[in-house]
Amino acid sequence: MAKVLVTGGAGYIGTHTLVELLAAGHEPIVIDNLVNSSAESLKRVAKISGQEVAFYKFDLCDSEKLNDLCGAENFDAVIHFAGLKAVGESVAKPLEYYQNNLQSTLTLLAAMEKHHIPSLIFSSSATVYGDPSELPLKETSRVGVGLTNPYGKTKYFIEEILRDWSAAHPDKQVTILRYFNPIGAHPSGLIGEDPQGPPNNLMPYVAQVAAGVRPELTINGNDYDTPDGTGVRDYIHVVDLARGHVAALSNPATGVRTYNLGTGKGVSVMEAVAAFEKACGHPIAYKIGPRRAGDIATCYASADLAAAELGWRATKTLDEACQDAWRWQSQNPQGFRQ
Ligand code: NAD
Ligand code: UDP
Repeated sequence: MAKVLVTGGAGYIGTHTLVELLAAGHEPIVIDNLVNSSAESLKRVAKISGQEVAFYKFDLCDSEKLNDLCGAENFDAVIHFAGLKAVGESVAKPLEYYQNNLQSTLTLLAAMEKHHIPSLIFSSSATVYGDPSELPLKETSRVGVGLTNPYGKTKYFIEEILRDWSAAHPDKQVTILRYFNPIGAHPSGLIGEDPQGPPNNLMPYVAQVAAGVRPELTINGNDYDTPDGTGVRDYIHVVDLARGHVAALSNPATGVRTYNLGTGKGVSVMEAVAAFEKACGHPIAYKIGPRRAGDIATCYASADLAAAELGWRATKTLDEACQDAWRWQSQNPQGFRQ
């Protein structure tokens, strides 16, 4: 059993990870400033798990509050989800993204040093691979080239910071998890992705079109060099992703370890839309639009390293993810707002 500080724990991936941590017998404690989430999500976690999660509402950049908490609790590990994640917004507000994502991480690392917290699991992204140098993407594939937005750069820069930090503190356990495309929701329908405003990502947009919240999906280009011309991504069920964190926590090692969390399979936009149509039982209206600036054609993971070293593999299918996303969307048309 580990006592785990979960930064950004009220968010999409954080809440699903809380459920899996509690199920595995761990004790999570959440910090979140609710900039992109609501406390209702944590009430839902309690409903699913039958256990309350301690929650502190403050900004992770607030070093005084963070040090007070870390001094009062004897944390075994930190899972660091907190961060801003909207690609388009990061282009418009780069300083906000660098300030929030980098400063919060630096504040956290300083507190981990001061309070002797041995282990960190960090939410990175497949976006660090930029323009893929090879497919499937391996953890050893080239990173940092062709990054087209400040959000992606914050992930790359933080990975570099973590490598420097680990070199100076070789006793620390640092695990970098590079998520591919998280989708779906908890099968209970009680928690899921709750975008504020128009969704930036494909699947929540499709879910809102299916629910009649938005009139139609615009497919960002159908002239890519892919089997049907639309972009190909590696969509991973958020519950599988959450379990990857529990696997990392259960297999500690000093130094920096980096793992892809993906399925290993590429799925096109057209295939993803068809899977969602099957789940919701009716057609999804769409039109073909231009390519989205900065998009790549194809991105999917080699997921073998996490299997070999953490004993973790994604087990849920695209169909299950769409069914679970549809259950969440149809049972909570306003998300966590009631
Ligand atoms: P999310 O926005 O739902 O969750 C992030 C949480 O962090 C939110 O609850 C937000 O309120 C909180 N937060 C942000 N800045 C904070 C700060 N300074 N102090 C305290 N709390 C703060 O996002 P998510 O989808 O759950 O993503 C979690 C992490 O995974 C993020 O770091 C994200 O960049 C990364 N990631 C997400 C995806 C994805 O597609 N969802 C893909 C790759 C990586
Ligand atoms: N996409 C789309 N319409 C949308 C949103 C996304 O056609 O409204 C496409 C996008 O161009 C990409 C795929 O869906 O090919 C996945 O996009 P998402 O933003 O979800 O993930 P990312 O591109 O960041 O991997």
